[in-house]
Amino acid sequence: MSEFKTLLPKTGNAPAHVKDQGVINMVVSGEAAYNAKSGELLLLPEGEAKRRRLSGDILAALSEGCGYQTVNCGNDDAIFSLAERFVREWQDAATSFCEERGRNIRLLAWDTDEASRDAKARALMEAVTAALRGKTGGDGLTPSFVEEIREGNSRLFILAKGCGQGAIGSRPGFICPSCGNVKLPDSPLGYTPAQPGAGEPESRAADVETPGANTITELCDQLGVDVTRTIKAMLYIAYDADSNRRAVASFVRGDYNLSMNKLDRWLRGERGLTGLRSADKKELYELIGEVAGYCGPVGMPSDVVIVCDDSVIGAKNTVVGANRPGYHKTGCCHPRDFDPPIADIAQLTEGTPCACGGKYKAACVREMGRIETASLPSKPQEGIKLLSYRDKDGKHDYPSAIIGELSVEKILLAVR
Ligand SMILES: [Zn+2]
Repeated sequence: MSEFKTLLPKTGNAPAHVKDQGVINMVVSGEAAYNAKSGELLLLPEGEAKRRRLSGDILAALSEGCGYQTVNCGNDDAIFSLAERFVREWQDAATSFCEERGRNIRLLAWDTDEASRDAKARALMEAVTAALRGKTGGDGLTPSFVEEIREGNSRLFILAKGCGQGAIGSRPGFICPSCGNVKLPDSPLGYTPAQPGAGEPESRAADVETPGANTITELCDQLGVDVTRTIKAMLYIAYDADSNRRAVASFVRGDYNLSMNKLDRWLRGERGLTGLRSADKKELYELIGEVAGYCGPVGMPSDVVIVCDDSVIGAKNTVVGANRPGYHKTGCCHPRDFDPPIADIAQLTEGTPCACGGKYKAACVREMGRIETASLPSKPQEGIKLLSYRDKDGKHDYPSAIIGELSVEKILLAVR
């Protein structure tokens, strides 16, 4: 009887020039080798066995938790044709599929409307995150399910908190050291911050001369106010359905930044405006006159599209542009003096306040998977196919898709 040895080259030495703690752990424990030249992780028997277990656990969570059918078709077109072939008779059972492709798990699903599609997408991410949460410790594998707004759609990510810069799959994110919340730059913030001076009596609004104060820093210096007691304007251009240029004035509290991705989504959804872009001084002059450096939400010209961020809700005795060159208005209160449409349009930066009262800090996070949802066009497009069918009543189609991929390799690097 012969006995075979498993190739398990444990070593006390971390591979040279490798910053990824996940790679280091796998190499040291003999689960993988690393080709520094190509950046490839070479899975050895123990590492591969672990990958197969992980992949199996995730596929099981998807099928048991969300009804995803595990198939082996090899490509998206083949899965699409499966759905097309069986959807009439099997309905929901033929609209959600997952399959292992190399070191990834591909996800494809369709749904009848955007609300149920989004609910389905969230349920999927929750199920995967929950399945991973059971895995023990190591390189900060506390999987977080994080949303980000991009190109008019939301993308959902599964991220591992904290990995070194340069780690495989690392991307810039933010972590709140107080509560552990994880966000990406354009993630929804989902709360309204506390306002300074909330208990103060409301002052009277008054115009004050602020010569040359066309930046927030200069304004705060001139008036001796904290940046949280100011509201700043960001001006852009967007286009209506007839390609007419419209000026867009967006406002955030002085210590917040604006997310063009979130603003773009709001403009598309709420005002039917597209093509959001920055504007130069000359253009702004043409559209709103000489007040560009002194724009405020009180008394903007009526043809300007206005939206304020959640961070201005309940602002008290704050400083805003007076829409008059060289002037600002002090003592302004929301909603007494201005009551514009409000939306979450802020971008996270170092120091953005968290709902818990802490402040977000920049950190690298490891992207382990993402799904994108898409409202499908009326005809097939590259990468997205339109699945539709009519039931006996002639009313039932699947105009919305969920397309995603989980990287079992990156999950493996985060698991110990
Ligand atoms: Zn927090």
